[in-house]
Amino acid sequence: MLRTTDCGALTLADQGKEVTLAGWVQKIRNKGFMLWIDLRDRYGITQVIFDEERTPKAVFDAAQDLGREYVIQIRGKVIERESKNPQLSTGEIEILATDLQLLNAAKVPPFTIEDQTDGGEELRMQYRYLDIRRTPVRENLVFRSKVTLAVRNYLSAHGFIDVETPYLIKSTPEGARDFVVPSRMNSGQFYALPQSPQTFKQLLMVGGLDKYFQIVKCFRDEDLRADRQPEFTQIDCEMTFVEQEDVLQQFEGLLRHLLLEIKGVETGPFPRITFAEAMEKYGNDKPDIRFGMTFATLNDLAQNKGFNVFDQQELVVGIAVPGAAQYTRKQIDGLIDWVKRPQIGANGLVWVKYNDDGSFKSSVDKFYSADDLSQWATATGAVPGDLLLVMAGETHATRNQLSALRMEMAERLGLRQPNEFAPLWVVDFPLLEWDDESQRYHAMHHPFTAPKPEHLAMLEKAPESVNANAYDLVLNGNEIGGGSIRIHDAAVQQRMFDLLGFSPEEAQAQFGFLMEAFQYGAPPHGGIALGLDRLVALLGGQEIIRDFIAFPKNNSGRDVMIDAPAAIDPAQLDELNITLTPPK
Ligand code: ASP
Repeated sequence: MLRTTDCGALTLADQGKEVTLAGWVQKIRNKGFMLWIDLRDRYGITQVIFDEERTPKAVFDAAQDLGREYVIQIRGKVIERESKNPQLSTGEIEILATDLQLLNAAKVPPFTIEDQTDGGEELRMQYRYLDIRRTPVRENLVFRSKVTLAVRNYLSAHGFIDVETPYLIKSTPEGARDFVVPSRMNSGQFYALPQSPQTFKQLLMVGGLDKYFQIVKCFRDEDLRADRQPEFTQIDCEMTFVEQEDVLQQFEGLLRHLLLEIKGVETGPFPRITFAEAMEKYGNDKPDIRFGMTFATLNDLAQNKGFNVFDQQELVVGIAVPGAAQYTRKQIDGLIDWVKRPQIGANGLVWVKYNDDGSFKSSVDKFYSADDLSQWATATGAVPGDLLLVMAGETHATRNQLSALRMEMAERLGLRQPNEFAPLWVVDFPLLEWDDESQRYHAMHHPFTAPKPEHLAMLEKAPESVNANAYDLVLNGNEIGGGSIRIHDAAVQQRMFDLLGFSPEEAQAQFGFLMEAFQYGAPPHGGIALGLDRLVALLGGQEIIRDFIAFPKNNSGRDVMIDAPAAIDPAQLDELNITLTPPK
C-alpha cells in the first residue's frame, strides 16, 4: 500500500505516530515559512504542515510547487493542532511532513472541488470524475451502495435468488419506445434493449426458480421529462404461487426494512387505497399523504346557485389549506397566476377565507351565502383560519390541476418534510385505459397483468370496467414501485393481446415464446419492480435522482462527458449494412 492510514482516520489518540498518507491536495495555505495543505481521499481530509524549521529543506522546497488536485504521498508525524477544527474528524491533529512524493501533477480543475462548488451542472457533468471527488456526490454514491446492499441482504434472507437476464432482447412493451441495437451477424435485424426484464422473470417462474430478484438496468426511449433517465435501475422481483396479498406483504417488508436499517424510522402497516379513491381524494395515483388537504367534491353544494362558471362543469372540487386564511390579496392573486400558467393550465381559482372569527370572505360572495360557504367548509374539513381553494372543469384535467396546487401549497407551507416517510399502496388499478388518439385500449400496467378473477367475465362486454390485480408502492408523492399478478394462462394472454389490438400473427411473432411457455405448466405468479434511483434519492432526503447516479445523462439524454450518443464510423455502418439518409 502507498499509505499506512487514510485521510479520515487520525485523531489525538494517534499523536506521535509516524504515518504515510496518500491523496489529493484540496487546499494550500502558504505563509512563506509554513505551508499547510488539506489532503483529501475518500475517507476524509487531514491537514499536513510543512515547516521551514522542522521539515527537511528539500521536502519544504518541493511543497512550494504543489498545486490543487496534485496527487501526493506524504510521510510525517501526527502532532496536536494549534487551532482545532471541530467540523473535521481529524480536526484536532495535523501531520508534520518529513517526506513528500509527487505521484501525479494535475491541471487546474475547471471548478472548485469542495462541498460548495462554483461549477455549474453542465461543467460538473462534463468532468464528472472531478465532481465525484466532492464529498456530497461521493457520499450519495456511498449511500446508494448501502441501500443496494440492504436490499440484497433482505431479499436473499427471504429466499430470493439473483439471476441476470439478457440485455440484447426483443421488445418488451412497458409503454415506451425501445432502444434498438443493430445485429452485424444478422444483417437487417435488431435487438431491443429491455424496458424491463418482465417476460424473462416470468419465464424464470415457469422454470421453477420460485423467487427471483435482480438489480438491473432498464432502458426506455421516452421524451425526457425533468429528472428522467433513459437508462435507470430497477429492483426487479418475481414470486411463484402467490396472490396479491403475498406480494404486498413481502415488499412492504422490504421497504420497512430499508426505512429502519437506513433511516432508523419505524413504520406501521402501510395504508392501502384504491386507484379510484386516490384519484377522487388526491387527484392523482401517487398521493403524498404526509399532509391532508384531501379533495372534496362540491358539485351538489356549488352548482345551480346562479354561478354560471360552475354550473356547466363536470366537476367542482376543493381543498382546505390549513392556516392560509391569512393570505393577502396579493398572495391569492399569486396563486391564481400560478394555476393559470401553461404547465397547470387552469382557467381560474375560486377562494374562500374561513376567518378565525368564523365569518367567510370569498371571491364568489355575490353568489353564495355564508350558509352555503359553511357547507363547503364542512365538506372540505376546513376549520376557522383555513383557506378553501376550489376549481371546476372536466374531471380528469381539474383533478390534475388541483393536485398540482395541493402539492404547491404543501411545499409553500413546509409540509413536505424530507425526513418524514409516508408509504402507501395503491391497488385495484383498471386493467385497460382507452386511448383516443390510437382509438384502442392500452394496458394500464403492461400486457401481462392479470384481470381480477371476479372481473374476468366482464372482459368481453365491458373491458374498461375490469380491474387488475395490479398495485403501486408510493412514497411521499412518488411512485417507487409497481407490479401485478400475471396472466399464466395462454388463452387469457391471447385475449389480452387481442384487446390491445395485436393481430394473432403479431402476438405470435412478438410473444409466441411466452404463450408457448404458458402451455408447459406455467404456475401462478406475480411480482413487482422498484425504481432504485428514486428510492435512493428519497431515502437520502433528496429529490434529484441524477445526484445519486455516478454517470447520469442530461435532460436531452446525452452523456456530456463521453459525448454520447455520437455518429459512428462509416465502416461500422457498412458492416451493419445500414445506410443513413440525411435527417428530414
Ligand atoms: N415490469 C414492470 C415495470 O417495469 C414491473 C412489474 O410488473 O414487475 O414497471
